[in-house]
Amino acid sequence: MKIKIGVKDLRSEFIDLIQRITGEEIALCYQCGNCTAGCPAAFAMDIAPHHVVRLLQLGHEETVLDANSMWICVSCLQCYSRCPKNVDISRIMEGLRQMSLRKGIDKVEIKQLPVDILSDSPQQALVAGFRKLVN
Ligand code: SF4
Ligand code: SF4
Repeated sequence: MKIKIGVKDLRSEFIDLIQRITGEEIALCYQCGNCTAGCPAAFAMDIAPHHVVRLLQLGHEETVLDANSMWICVSCLQCYSRCPKNVDISRIMEGLRQMSLRKGIDKVEIKQLPVDILSDSPQQALVAGFRKLVN
């Protein structure tokens, strides 16, 4: 018997939640790797962008949430511009950040930032950083 698996068969509660948050269809990715090839930040990620999507497809949510990839992503949209399936990984990374922050896990403790960083950094950088990294 021939078994046919379609994009709608790759489902889990976590994927459904990510898709509701981001509006992206994770199952559409067919792992061509174009996103990672163009990503300027992939070299610093624990898990490359296309592997983040693959791990989500396979239900390895904890592995993805434990990795630094979503925090390293700079939302440059290069991956989206190169994706033949129009998967916007920057939105998926943002969705993952939101899910992590919703668990109450801040990536920055504001009170512990050194005063010289607070005084030397541009105000815009601090605001942007806090929006990305803090609940
Ligand atoms: S470019 Fe698109 S289809 Fe290709 S691996 Fe990345 S997300 Fe998947
Ligand atoms: S949006 Fe994020 S994942 Fe996509 S290319 Fe830019 S840094 Fe890489």
